[in-house]
Amino acid sequence: MKYADIAIQSPVFKLFTYSFDDAQNISPGMRVEVEFRGKKRIGLCFATSDDPTPGIPPAKIKKISSVLDQKPSFSTAMLKLAEWMSSYYCAPIGEVVRCALPSRMLKSNSPKTTRASSPHEIRPEGGISTLNREQAAASAEIIRSSSDGESRVFLLHGITGSGKTEVYLEIFGEMVSKGRTALLLVPEIGLTPQLTSRAVAKFKDDVAVYHSGLTDAQRHEQWLRIRDGKAKVVIGTRSALFAPLERLGVIVVDEEHDPSFKQDDGFQYNARDAAVMRAKLEGAVAILGSATPSLESLYNVKAGKYSKLEMNSRANFSRLPEITIVDMRAKQKREDRNKSEGNRKKRELCALSPELYDAIEKALNSGEQTMLFVGRRGFASLIQCAGCGEVIKCPNCDISLALHGNSGKKEKLNCHYCGYSIDAPNTCSVCGSDQISPIGFGTERIEAEITDFFPSAKVARLDSDTVMRSSTRRKILNDMRSGKIDVLIGTQMITKGHDFPDVTLVGVISADLSLSIPDFRSAERTFQLLTQVAGRAGRRNRPGRVIIQTRQPSHLSLVSAKNHDCASFAEAEIAQRIESGYPPFTRLANIRISSTEKKKARMAAETAAEIIKKMLLESRSESGIKLLGPAPAIIEKLRGRYRWQMLLKAPSASALSSLLKNARPKIESSLPGNVRFGIDVDPLNLL
Ligand SMILES: [Zn+2]
Ligand SMILES: [Zn+2]
Repeated sequence: MKYADIAIQSPVFKLFTYSFDDAQNISPGMRVEVEFRGKKRIGLCFATSDDPTPGIPPAKIKKISSVLDQKPSFSTAMLKLAEWMSSYYCAPIGEVVRCALPSRMLKSNSPKTTRASSPHEIRPEGGISTLNREQAAASAEIIRSSSDGESRVFLLHGITGSGKTEVYLEIFGEMVSKGRTALLLVPEIGLTPQLTSRAVAKFKDDVAVYHSGLTDAQRHEQWLRIRDGKAKVVIGTRSALFAPLERLGVIVVDEEHDPSFKQDDGFQYNARDAAVMRAKLEGAVAILGSATPSLESLYNVKAGKYSKLEMNSRANFSRLPEITIVDMRAKQKREDRNKSEGNRKKRELCALSPELYDAIEKALNSGEQTMLFVGRRGFASLIQCAGCGEVIKCPNCDISLALHGNSGKKEKLNCHYCGYSIDAPNTCSVCGSDQISPIGFGTERIEAEITDFFPSAKVARLDSDTVMRSSTRRKILNDMRSGKIDVLIGTQMITKGHDFPDVTLVGVISADLSLSIPDFRSAERTFQLLTQVAGRAGRRNRPGRVIIQTRQPSHLSLVSAKNHDCASFAEAEIAQRIESGYPPFTRLANIRISSTEKKKARMAAETAAEIIKKMLLESRSESGIKLLGPAPAIIEKLRGRYRWQMLLKAPSASALSSLLKNARPKIESSLPGNVRFGIDVDPLNLL
């Protein structure tokens, strides 16, 4: 008789001991079927031994019903990674396993794998490219480090257009030729078609693409291909972190600053940080690539944990665009004067400054493309009654409803958080006035204005409303590349990774929305956003131009972006973070409590805070941890739930994780019914 420690999908932290016969041939990493609380469940074996766990009478230990794997589903390194993630993120081990395996592998009686249709409709796109001096130096340094068996972490800081992709592919080629494998994590597959196409062109059938857009069957099939060694290069989003590659040589996290590497619901982990840990456990090299690295990564360079490699010139000798900041307060003054003089000049009553208007006109006349970034989708952020000031809010969320849908269709008011939608009213429900006006600019409104001003221009819009289907997105991106679109208007989506060689003008309708978000990272995010979107301009031989409209023209984020000065921005922002005691100088955990009943949420949060205060007192503040709150979340009501939160600020990750580990069960057992509770370690979203 032998014993196995099994992780089971349930909200518990510990492993459960089961017994098995020698003949069952179970080793760590294999899936097994067991009986758990009267039900058949699939679990993952983490360890086996000849002796039962001390303290449990052997007669009470149940037998493993059956073994589901002939070879382990998890390697030793992956088991260690799962244990680290469970401990670091204070999440049940079964939850980590559930995220790591295709859902089919964890369901009893799941259908046997049949051949799924090919998941990637990706056209190989190639051409041999030779590396320039900077690219060659960066890849040589990383390859040398890898052959020396070091598992170092590199921050590849290359300006937009510096050709980081070529460096990745060069290193992957080297790894594959040595019989090792490579993993590339990207923020979103649909937004990086060029990168994926080029990898497919270079490595052909050796590539597997793994992301959330796959069906369960496709996911399972790709997973098996990877585990069986048929795919040597894996490209994927967040969940590809768990790809069962063996002999892993390198993990690349491209656009490492992108918040989408953080899983924001359920098991909240950051795939970038976990990738660094996986590389360490696998003896692989980790590369974090970005034109706008996160302050966390820059700080890790300063602290000597990461090595920085820089690429400061564009791969095709094009120059960084010239950036102009336009002060919209001046425009407002002119408009007010014009209004009072009864001089309604149409051009001045829109979202475009004369500077941006002229630049678009000039680009159109010379047959060049323009991209316009707008912070919000929809027509307007909200509608307001001019009579009484009433703003219509979502009944489920503490958020005003956005106006959507012009061009003949019935206008709608939509909630961007919960999907609530109603027809836009013609009169105010409070005072009956019919003077209801849209406030703020969304992508639809900019599209309408551009079409109005430049009727012969071919205009397209890229936001989550227009790209519900991935085929639409592909078509828009292809049309943009082939020059069938003159002006592309979009949200965040247009800022990421695209290489449209004929875009010479980029306009930012307003930088203010991003700056106004009440989050300690809003300056950093704004700098990253502006630098990334500006980087879309002038990527070939024609010089690019960028126009940023704002009411805060002297804000450091804007001035640094204008001067392409990442170093000064980082230095000033780091000083600011030290002073205010925020990451990367402290570690944060956000404890969130919610309920459909307002009072219950508050009371549960207060009880949880008492539990933590008591624990901090008992430790006589040795841990140095501070508790902020509890307080209602900035968005107090979301999807019908009232939300409270409290923030823990700790000097180190280990102090934080040991406190959370002890606090979690106490808080959980204090919760009344109808209350949800979650711990978010290293939170990126504090709203
Ligand atoms: Zn009214
Ligand atoms: Zn809502």
